[in-house]
Amino acid sequence: MSDHEVNADEALDRFMQITAIPGRSGDEAKVAGTIVELLKQAGVQDSQIEFDGAEKRTRIDGNCGNLIVTLPGNGEGPRTLLSAHMDTVPICVGSQPVVEGTQVRSSEPTGLGADDRAGCAAILTAIIERCRRGDEHFPPAVVSFLIQEEIGLEGARHLDVNKIGKVDRAFNFDGGTVEKLTSGAIGGERMTIDLTGIPAHAGVAPEQGVSTIVIASRAIADLHERGWLGRVVQGEQTGSANVGVIQGGEATNVITPNLHLKAEARSHDSAFRQQIVSEIRQAFEKAAAAVQNEAGECGQCKFESHVDYESFALPEDHPSIVTAKAAIAKIGRQAFCEVSNGGVDANWLFRHGIEAVTLGCGQRNIHTADERLEIADYIDACRVATSMITDGATDG
Ligand SMILES: [Zn+2]
Repeated sequence: MSDHEVNADEALDRFMQITAIPGRSGDEAKVAGTIVELLKQAGVQDSQIEFDGAEKRTRIDGNCGNLIVTLPGNGEGPRTLLSAHMDTVPICVGSQPVVEGTQVRSSEPTGLGADDRAGCAAILTAIIERCRRGDEHFPPAVVSFLIQEEIGLEGARHLDVNKIGKVDRAFNFDGGTVEKLTSGAIGGERMTIDLTGIPAHAGVAPEQGVSTIVIASRAIADLHERGWLGRVVQGEQTGSANVGVIQGGEATNVITPNLHLKAEARSHDSAFRQQIVSEIRQAFEKAAAAVQNEAGECGQCKFESHVDYESFALPEDHPSIVTAKAAIAKIGRQAFCEVSNGGVDANWLFRHGIEAVTLGCGQRNIHTADERLEIADYIDACRVATSMITDGATDG
């Protein structure tokens, strides 16, 4: 049997079963429970299955940690990691997967949840196919089913890397086409800005007030004029920035004393991203000092920033890329590399010393009610994942 062949009917059934389980971010326990059950049926021992307790370290309270499966094999050769995330966006809760021609969709008005249950099912298929061939014939591998990807890569961020161990090459199966290899991704940072002014009656004594709306308007106009919002290009350096949320104000007759804003900045260059954040901070602080009432009093700016993920880029000759290209060539497709302008779990894996390339599994229209899975692409992703942990067999 060639090292990438899989039982396609079983692989599709496995996807249908896993994608029907409700499991938004923080509620992955049922998904993990089913995966564990299927692993045990395939002969994986309890001692090879572990949870890392990441849900106690994430921003929200979850009911399940990252699920880690160790496949010791014969202990020789490069050690490989396969990864996918178990959570879906909320629109996928209630998905009823049905096959329609060459695709799977949900018969309910929900998303399908192929992002990323197709990734989970593909790497689960790879484990099951490897067990069927006899685990001890293969080099060592480890598989991580991650939590809370959709709310800011929280599972990957809080992964207990000691439970993963050293890996030589790593593959993250997420949304998109099979042949597109994401070999790097942008870094992103989120800011919250809380402005405090001085309330006053807008008709009786407006001169006594300090308006936070005026402070925010000045800061945003200044950033916009100097090119630090939207597409940010300064000399050779590029990035983006956006003020996406402004909340505050209750009445037209009050000088608005409180305003809450949320903003973000991104760049492939982390020093430049930090510079964008610093420009935004300075603009708000400057505006807060400049807007004064008749007594010369001004408001305050409380600025907080949180790195969502750092940028990374793997070189073309990296073992993860070379192996992924070879596995994709073997199923008759031609791989190409791309650098993503959004964050992926691989950003955090990289911070933990795990240098992963990300591949899709045939998902289409993710995060919408018209999400689809292209069945042939998904089966190919299963074959690619299988060959990644079953090539290099000691007996042919
Ligand atoms: Zn995803």
